[in-house]
This record gives sequence, C-alpha cells and structure tokens, in this order.
Amino acid sequence: MAKLKILKFPSPKLRIKAKEIKDIDKKIKIKIDDMFETMYDAPGIGLAATQVDFHYRLLVADVSSEQNEPLVMINPIVNKKEGVAINQEGCLSIPGYFGDVERAKTIWVSYLDGLGNKIDSEFDGLLSVCVQHEIDHLDGKLFLDHLSEAKRQRIRKSIDKEKRQRTKSSKSNI
Ligand code: ZN
Repeated sequence: MAKLKILKFPSPKLRIKAKEIKDIDKKIKIKIDDMFETMYDAPGIGLAATQVDFHYRLLVADVSSEQNEPLVMINPIVNKKEGVAINQEGCLSIPGYFGDVERAKTIWVSYLDGLGNKIDSEFDGLLSVCVQHEIDHLDGKLFLDHLSEAKRQRIRKSIDKEKRQRTKSSKSNI
C-alpha cells in the first residue's frame, strides 16, 4: 500500500468530472487500498478518487471511531433524497476550513462495492453527509460551492493570504 498525495484547493484538478469505472481490475483494487491508507492517515472519514488525482467514480469512507467500517463505492448514483440537514463540513483538500452545508437528510444510493457486487443502500446521519460530499467531489464540486458567496470569498482570501505568508517564510529560510 502507498500513501497518496491529496490535491489541495484551489487546484483546477479538483474540478475535473470523474469517469465511470468499466472494469474493477487490479489497478482499481490497489487504488482502493491506497485511498484507505491515505484517508486513515490524514485522518479523514471520506476520500474521493478525484482528491488523489485519479479521475474515476470511486470513493472510500469510514465514519466509525474505530476505523473498522470501511465503505467502498464505485459508480455511485443517488436515486432518491429526502429531508434537509445542515452540518458543519470540512475537507481534506481544504484543510483548516469549515462551513455549514445544507444537504438532503436521507439518501438512497446504488453502487458497486470493491468486489463488483451491486448494492442499494439507504444512508442517514454522518454517513449520508459524507457520501454526498464525496459524490460532489466526483462531479468536480466542493463544499465551498454550497456556501454563500460572501463566506466563500472570505475563505478564498484567507487561503491566498496563508499561501503568501508561506512563500515569504520559505524565502527567508533559504
Ligand atoms: Zn472533501
């Protein structure tokens, strides 16, 4: 297994729409293992292939506190949504920033698991939030896109400022 590099906002690659997976071959299986290692190490509760610069419809998640409930979703499709829930979200691609995002409370999703079995599942609570967040990534969307323009600008400015400061301090270290 190998730890993968996570793309950081505002990388344009985070905006690429992921392609459907036609064949769950060895390459995909290795990618799944590597994504779990990367997610647990971060640590995070979900990771989409897009975030590790692999533009296929694959995501991994585990919202358990013991990290023993791994979930693999290939080619997920949301068939039905119900209710509204607002939760504070963060993202491994936008470290240190959080925002309240409104999403569906319950979702019904069809997907393939890591072995290619077709699964239909209902998700609620944190896992519902996580799955919706990760499917957004596969469509090139970020949780920032759900925030108000003002809030998004504030975060963007703050990230730019942080970047400038990092550049400055790395220069003075030379
Ligand atoms: Zn994310």
